[in-house]
This record gives sequence, C-alpha cells and structure tokens, in this order.
Amino acid sequence: MKDVIIIRYGEIILKGLNKKFFEDKLAKHIRHALVDLGKPKVYKEHSRIYVDVDDYNPQEIIDRVKRVFGVVSISPAKRFPVDMEEIKKVVIQEIREKVEKYGVKTFKIESKRADKKFPMKSPEISREIGGFVLQNIEEISVDVHRPDISVHVEVRSDTAFVHSEKIEGFGGLPLETNGKALLLLSGGIDSPVAGWLVGKRGVEIEAIHFHSYPFTSERAKEKVMDLAKIVASYCGEFKIYSINLLPIQKEINEKCPEEEMTILSRRFMMKIAEKIALKFECDALVTGESIGQVASQTVKSLHVTNAAVNIPVFRPLIAMDKVDIIELAKKIGTYETSILPFEDCCTVFLPKHPVTKPKLEKILYSEELLDVEELIESAIDEMEVINTLEI
Ligand code: ATP
Ligand code: MG
Repeated sequence: MKDVIIIRYGEIILKGLNKKFFEDKLAKHIRHALVDLGKPKVYKEHSRIYVDVDDYNPQEIIDRVKRVFGVVSISPAKRFPVDMEEIKKVVIQEIREKVEKYGVKTFKIESKRADKKFPMKSPEISREIGGFVLQNIEEISVDVHRPDISVHVEVRSDTAFVHSEKIEGFGGLPLETNGKALLLLSGGIDSPVAGWLVGKRGVEIEAIHFHSYPFTSERAKEKVMDLAKIVASYCGEFKIYSINLLPIQKEINEKCPEEEMTILSRRFMMKIAEKIALKFECDALVTGESIGQVASQTVKSLHVTNAAVNIPVFRPLIAMDKVDIIELAKKIGTYETSILPFEDCCTVFLPKHPVTKPKLEKILYSEELLDVEELIESAIDEMEVINTLEI
C-alpha cells in the first residue's frame, strides 16, 4: 500500500489534441514546486496527476501543489491492489483516524467503479463497505445527506484508491501555456492581484516598476520587490525592470498643465512598458486598473491612457469592486505587504485637482511640449533589472 496525493485538473481535459501538452506542463510545474523537498515521484495516470508520498511530509506536498495554476483539487489517498477485504480494512482505518482526529460521528461511502470488469456495481460496493464500517466502529452512523466524512472508494482496473479529503486549488491553466505578458507593478493592492490573475491563465509574467528615487525611498522599492517575490511564488521567478520616472515627472511639471500630471505620467509609463515588452518578447501589458477607482481610471482616462500604446493591455480587475480585489489579495497573500505605508511615484507632484475627463487632443498637445522619445530613451538607458531569484 502506498500513500499518494491525487491531483485533479479541470479545463485541461477539454483541450482535445493539445491535452498532453497542458498535462506535461502541469506535471513539470508540480515537480518544480516540490524541488525544495527533494524529488518525490510525480506521474500522470487516469487523467490525473499523482505524487508518491514515500518519506515526504504529505502536508508539505499539498501546501506547495495548492499554489500551482491548473490544479483544481487535491486529495491525500491510499493506493493499493484491488481487493475487497483490503478496501474494507483501509476504509476502517481511514474512518478511525478521522474519528480520533476530528471526532466525526457520521459517514457516507461514495464508490466509483471505473473498471466495469469488477464484479460489484458502485452502489453495492458502498453498501457492503458501509455495513462493514457499522459493524466495526461503534461510535459512528450513516448520514447520506450531510455526513461529517465522505469516504471515496475508487476501483480502477487493478488499483484501488481510498480518500476522504478534498483540498481546493486555484484552477486556471499551467504556466507557460499562453505566452508572456509584462505587468505594471506598483506597490499598491491591485497590480499584484492583476498579475496573479493573468498568470493563472497560464501566462508567464515579467514586471516593470516605476519609482521616483530619491523622492520615493529605498524602502518603497523593497516593498515592491517583496510583492514581486510573492507573485513569483505562484507565477514562477521573473525579472523586474525598474525605471526612474523622476526626470520625466520633472519635465511634465515644468512644461505641462498641473492637472494633467497624473494622466501624462500614466501615458509615459505605458509607452515605456510597451517598449520593454516588445524588446523582451512580452505580447501584452497587464495593469491593475479598475473602472472609476481613481481619477486616472475613469472610462475617459482609460481611453487616453490606452491610446498611448498599440500592444494589447489586459486589465483583469476592470469590473471588480475594491472589496473583492482586497479579498483576493488576502487570499493570495499580497495584501499585508501592499498596505505598508510607503510612498508611490504617483504621489510625487500629485495634482490637487487631476483631470477626470481628459481629452485626447488636449493631452497630445501637451505631449508636444515635451521631447517624448528622448525622455523615454534615457529612462530606459538608466533602467535597472532585478530577478526575483535575487530577492
Ligand atoms: P495599485 O493598487 O496597483 O497601485 P492604484 O489603484 O493605486 O493601483 P493607479 O496608481 O492609478 O491605481 O495605477 C493603476 C495601475 O497602473 C496599477 O494597477 C499598475 O498596474 C500601474 N501603475 C501605477 N503606478 C505604477 C508604478 N509606480 N509602477 C508600475 N506600474 C504602476
Ligand atoms: Mg498605485
């Protein structure tokens, strides 16, 4: 008998001829998530992935696998050659364990006969095992509607599985199945969540961050690096292109109307990000923008910001409410870092009354007062590149 971890995936099963490609990527990323534990055996069978527990700590395997995109659910299970007597013994052991650990009082057996050659049908298996449990464990009774524990018995050709716990994964698609995008990562709540959501669709992420050093502190930059590290724990290690926006902000401040500061800076960020994206083979930008959240995110502002670039811009939070974004940030573990009180480059030269209904022609006219290309080139020349592996 073996302890295994069963890993289920969802959408990948619909991939038809490409299914194997997605499964192989998923298995690769599961292996990768486990490397620091050693090399537990990871293999594919029955449209699922298994990890042999052997001498590893099952909880440590589960904690890591849970973060891998594409994983829908996980169950620790016993795997052994099919034999009705053996199945009964394992079920008894499983229930006894849960009675001791959680004080469960009611149970249900759910059987699945994937091998139609097995002489008993699923309901018969459940009935026989259920009867056996009632005879052997006194303090427990059957509840088919709301049991404290559902013990699953699977019979698959010559292999049986018994399990009673299901841990949810995040779903999505495995990394490296959908190209690469460049995330505009600030120190706020939204952008790490936006990057995580796009990563969950199998897109590899790189990040670009704008600071206004020395107006923004070293500590503010470290906060962004800490956020990047958390995003990387799901999305894989990536590079962060760190750019000083201060010279550009100074130019805007000197030459353009005060109330256009934010929208003009945002357009510069987008243009620089587009250049970096194309240089490093990212096919889209990702931002944490959400309709109406701040002055620079009204629909009119988004139009003007968007018009700065030709590359697609993914805004996965566009229609989400802040409370829901916060909830997701807490779930993925970025929230506590995001709310640390460090200044952002956008707070430098913050206009008292930013335009909320910018007109594209007017903004383009203001940009003509600046040497846009030259400013962009020199900002990129001074760029610093950090790998999340170094953080
Ligand atoms: P966040 O919580 O992500 O900081 P926000 O609500 O503060 O977002 P804005 O400051 O208007 O909103 O930024 C909108 C989006 O622009 C951010 O989600 C991010 O993708 C990008 N962005 C803003 N500031 C920066 C920055 N300093 N570096 C990189 N990207 C940025
Ligand atoms: Mg911000």
